[in-house]
Amino acid sequence: MRSQRPVRHLHRGRKQRPLLPCLLGGLVGGICLLALLGMAARWGLVSVLAREAAPQDSSLRVSVSLESSQDTGGEAPWYLRLVNPQTPLSPEFTVELTEVAGGQFDSRAAEALSQMLSQMEDEGLSPLVCSSFRTWEDQETLHQNEVDLWLSQGLTEEAAQEEASRWVVPAGTSEHETGLAADIVSSAYQVLEEEQEDTPEQWWLMEHCWEYGFILRYPKDKTDVTGVGYEPWHYRYVGVEAAQEMKESGQCLEEYWAARFTRNGS
Ligand SMILES: [Zn+2]
Repeated sequence: MRSQRPVRHLHRGRKQRPLLPCLLGGLVGGICLLALLGMAARWGLVSVLAREAAPQDSSLRVSVSLESSQDTGGEAPWYLRLVNPQTPLSPEFTVELTEVAGGQFDSRAAEALSQMLSQMEDEGLSPLVCSSFRTWEDQETLHQNEVDLWLSQGLTEEAAQEEASRWVVPAGTSEHETGLAADIVSSAYQVLEEEQEDTPEQWWLMEHCWEYGFILRYPKDKTDVTGVGYEPWHYRYVGVEAAQEMKESGQCLEEYWAARFTRNGS
């Protein structure tokens, strides 16, 4: 039933490491770990570590993260606005837009997008923005088209809604409605499939997008946290500082956000 969607690539093999250093390293590491756990237990940290390591259950991971946000909670600035199925946009949400190549973008971030694209072109690449700002109605139509696709594959209405939402989220829950997200593909490969990651444009973007304040919003290893399938074309503006921190920490926006904020700003 998944034939319409990209096939997942196998993970590339890891390099073999010499056995003896591994064993010695493991022994020393194990002793250090025991010592650390003893200290952590005193500070009441063990239960938190155990729960975060527990996994594959995204609701648990999110609730752990949200608990930790209570200490440092605050209002997220406009460029860190979190939009997902659990945090939908208000129907009253509006944003000032600027025309960019391939559509419209939040006026405050449009220059960053344009600079990133022109730098790519200067380096001989051919990026193409195939989707940027979408209205509520645009998103509703796209979502319904996806539901229809899965219905045509024989899924029940409920199953089609669920599967469709993994790829094209319902109106009010797409970042494209904020004007801060752009789907960027290679002009030579204008397909929204996982193979997009193998284009020189995506190699460049994954390496350099943070320099312009963008992140790859739905990484392959965070689908259980974002709730959205891997999209090696969807880039989101979050500002240079946050983009750099997320690149260095390996956090996705949900994780970064939950550790800092409790609500979106206006
Ligand atoms: Zn997108």
